[in-house]
Amino acid sequence: MKAVLRMSGVRKAFGTHQALDGVDLEVAEGEVVVVIGPSGSGKSTLVRCVHQLESIDAGSMYLDGDLIGYEEHRGRLRPLSPRGAAAQRRRVGMVFQQFNLFPHFTALRNVTEAPVRVHRRDRAETERDAIALLERVGLGDRLHHYPRQLSGGQQQRVAIARALAVRPRIMLFDEPTSALDPELVDEVLGVLRGLAADGLTMIVVTHEMAFAREVADRCVFMEAGRIVESGTPAEVFGNPRSPRLRAFLSRHT
Ligand code: ADP
Ligand code: MG
Repeated sequence: MKAVLRMSGVRKAFGTHQALDGVDLEVAEGEVVVVIGPSGSGKSTLVRCVHQLESIDAGSMYLDGDLIGYEEHRGRLRPLSPRGAAAQRRRVGMVFQQFNLFPHFTALRNVTEAPVRVHRRDRAETERDAIALLERVGLGDRLHHYPRQLSGGQQQRVAIARALAVRPRIMLFDEPTSALDPELVDEVLGVLRGLAADGLTMIVVTHEMAFAREVADRCVFMEAGRIVESGTPAEVFGNPRSPRLRAFLSRHT
């Protein structure tokens, strides 16, 4: 199976705190990897490093076989410049807990903005694509609504369409339902389910254990900056080996 993302020995510290302490992770084409783990275990740092929002201290990351997280300068590798980070970020889609839509743009404009301004795509073609994406997330009737006119679940679905609009090789979701009222969680998880069924390659950080069990091809448990356990949902949920994972699951399921 072809690896879309390959991370090995990835380390990231904030001051003296080792947020990622040697992470190895491979994500195959079409695979859905769900990341679980206690607060502070490094889940957000992991996906933020893939999205070039954080630079890594050591290790390597490859996207479609290309080294990312570094750039070549005078024959040597160095950490990414802001411009280099922006260029590599274009191949990755990310959805945050907070939707961060542009408040003064309609749903449609929120989706077309990056492809038109950053990727310099044709506006008419981008709009056609954006409408199809908004329909795909169930918002075909909300194209011209502003964020304040949309529910949290609808805003998060716009954010998902926006991330998809740059045609990313991999989609990263960092607790996409944690900021939502409970009754709005399912509509967003439903969209994620659909994307998984369509064969999108994705990493989903979530505390929604039922969702993880159902949708994950592989489930990864992090603790203190390391991947402690990794396996099929049946293995991770049905037969946890480490006491820490057992304790975590007893608190969250
Ligand atoms: P999780 O998403 O699993 O809750 P994070 O990746 O956000 O964990 O954080 C891992 C650790 O790194 C935590 O101890 C957190 O406080 C620390 N951390 C994360 N981002 C920063 C930052 N920008 N500056 C300092 N410490 C950070
Ligand atoms: Mg987090």
